[in-house]
Amino acid sequence: MTYDPAAAESAPWQVVIIKHGTRATTRSDAYMNYAFYDEPDGPFRLDYFLWVLRRGDEVIVVDTGYRGDEGTRRGREVIIDPLEALRAIGVDPAAGHPVVITHAHYDHIGNIAAFPSSTIHLARIEHEFWTGRMGRRTLFAHFGDPEAVAELDPAVGDGRLALYDEQVEIAPGVTVTKVGGHTPGQSVVTVRTSVGTVILASDAVHFHEEMDRDMLFQSMADLPQSYATLDRLRQSDAAVIVSGHDSGELERHTPLAGPLAGLAATIGEFR
Ligand SMILES: [Zn+2]
Repeated sequence: MTYDPAAAESAPWQVVIIKHGTRATTRSDAYMNYAFYDEPDGPFRLDYFLWVLRRGDEVIVVDTGYRGDEGTRRGREVIIDPLEALRAIGVDPAAGHPVVITHAHYDHIGNIAAFPSSTIHLARIEHEFWTGRMGRRTLFAHFGDPEAVAELDPAVGDGRLALYDEQVEIAPGVTVTKVGGHTPGQSVVTVRTSVGTVILASDAVHFHEEMDRDMLFQSMADLPQSYATLDRLRQSDAAVIVSGHDSGELERHTPLAGPLAGLAATIGEFR
């Protein structure tokens, strides 16, 4: 069979979900103004993920997790170093694969310096926010990681920081869309897979309960926009929506065997 570039371009992607951390907390901590729901408090678990899209020998990394020291400082249980997890499935961070940062919170943008030759895709407004004054106010800064944001500077110098305004196609079948709400530039990634369209919602949907019960996470920068994003995702024709932190997320998908067994799952066939 001869190589057909058009067919290769149209091949579906496989999504790999990697869990790298976890945290036990309470429902009243996880949800904003939890008392408004008039429900008893209870234990709650958040997991921390990053995602890899792969097709043939193409790889796109979506978010880079938190740095181990930053996770530990915040009392998160570091299950596996995100870079080690990537290497375990054959992804070399230094290889120059495109990286998408869905938003610049510490648990999504850590380790960025380990990708010295990657193009880094980030919403322009997200970069402006975290390099500007508003991002330093306590209610925002709590979730920020100025060190990680500063690690974007070399990418700016090399022309590797690709800032988009609304939407960008990273590769055929992979589109990143700014939705806002959780942070000014919070984005979701739409991926064409063998099982249909998959939306990596990242922290537009921390937990599936947010979509199912119209609840919002404890920290949302813009409440109307956050609700509007939930509506938009519910109305989408996606076959699968993947949350940013749901502790049941891995169980919804196909477990990945091998070195990340128990910590990773896949959506769609790998071709
Ligand atoms: Zn997050």
